Amino acid sequence: MSIKKKTLIIVCTCLVLLALNAAFIALLSMPTIRIKGEKTITINLNSEYKDAGYKAEYLGQNISKDVKVEGNVDTSKAGTYTITYTINKGLVDTKVTRTIVVKDLEPPLIELKGATEKYLCPGTKYQEEGYTASDNLDGDITTDVQIDNQTDQIVYTVFDKEKNKATAMRKLYYEDQEKPTITLTDGEMIQITKNQEYVDPGYNATDNCDGSIKASVKVGGMVDTSTLGTYKITYEVSDKAQNKTMVTRTVQVIEPVNGVVYLTFDDGPGQYTQRILDTLAKYNVKATFFVTNQFSKYQNMIAQEAEQGHTVAIHTLTHSWNIYNSVDSYLNDFNQMQEIVKNQTGSYTKYFRFPGGSSNTVSKKHATGIMTTLAQVMTEKGYIYYDWNVDSGDTHKNNTVSYIISNIKKYVKGDGSYIILMHDIKKNTMEALPSVISYLKGRGYTFKAIDDNTPIKHFKIAN
Ligand SMILES: [Zn+2]
Repeated sequence: MSIKKKTLIIVCTCLVLLALNAAFIALLSMPTIRIKGEKTITINLNSEYKDAGYKAEYLGQNISKDVKVEGNVDTSKAGTYTITYTINKGLVDTKVTRTIVVKDLEPPLIELKGATEKYLCPGTKYQEEGYTASDNLDGDITTDVQIDNQTDQIVYTVFDKEKNKATAMRKLYYEDQEKPTITLTDGEMIQITKNQEYVDPGYNATDNCDGSIKASVKVGGMVDTSTLGTYKITYEVSDKAQNKTMVTRTVQVIEPVNGVVYLTFDDGPGQYTQRILDTLAKYNVKATFFVTNQFSKYQNMIAQEAEQGHTVAIHTLTHSWNIYNSVDSYLNDFNQMQEIVKNQTGSYTKYFRFPGGSSNTVSKKHATGIMTTLAQVMTEKGYIYYDWNVDSGDTHKNNTVSYIISNIKKYVKGDGSYIILMHDIKKNTMEALPSVISYLKGRGYTFKAIDDNTPIKHFKIAN
């Protein structure tokens, strides 16, 4: 080989090595982008997308700030989104991508109506109490719920359109866990007067599984009505599952009082008047009805009130405060009611009660001094008006049955005569009445309807 040729080979080899070296350096000096977090991310619809970040380096230097980020994620729309991270340095662009899948990840919700732990009577089947299923996207999907009826549980399953699953469970136990119920007619507290015969007012016992178990009730205790004092009567019953209930009635034997009670009912007749009449008949009690024509379809009950020995008296035809505009307007209203009473009972009545009572001050807004004048005018005409000395509270805001009963217990005590204000258009009055009567009877009170011997109770006129 000639020197010339050798030199050429060496030169060529050097050139190739140089070229390779340059390529190697170029290759080494390509920038790098590393994205933090997963390359593919699935996120919930409507959630917030936050890029986990990235780091770019070139020749050992952080050049993250030079990265161009492209693409955007609309989390309000399901779909696949791509974010591209590009850096332009060196020979070619360096590019990295991240895929973001936006989809509904939220499972639906099943809500069970009724208890999720259900105790059933042995031998019975569970009656579905209902359920609802809803999904953030699909809305109400109750009809898609699949029910798996197993012996000891019910499994409810539902999927939304994205196949997100929800389940709910209702556990079933076949055992009677509920105690029977004993109810005492006339309540847990009875007062009777000395030497009056004690007759149990009655009771009832029912069980959620066994139905009526009144026959199994064991009654214990006794009442010596010849001796004043407090006696306990016990009522005990067990259901088939041996759940036991015991209630006690307290019977108080007391000295009789020497009082008279006038039950008076205003504002009717109305829808509860019939039941009130039935109660009065059951206890053989006479009362007084201050009638109106506010509910004219019950007008014929005025005849019944009279027939059954109650006193029918006038309250007002309309129960409008405008009757207090003048003597004429009052009499106009009053006389029309008087004609209805005559029609129903065959005679006029001389007893009446002013709407709002004689001491009302609402009438002041209609005519000054009208109550004073009316009291005189009506008295001159031979009418007798009655206010009251016990308010049952049945028109008060909180006019519950127990409130009415407790008012009467509070205000009717001792000897004397009591005119009790009640309203036969109040449901709670109707419901309180049996207890009111048996309480007062037990105390020894006599019931009377208003007549000419009734002590007159008048408020002080305030207009
Ligand atoms: Zn009234």
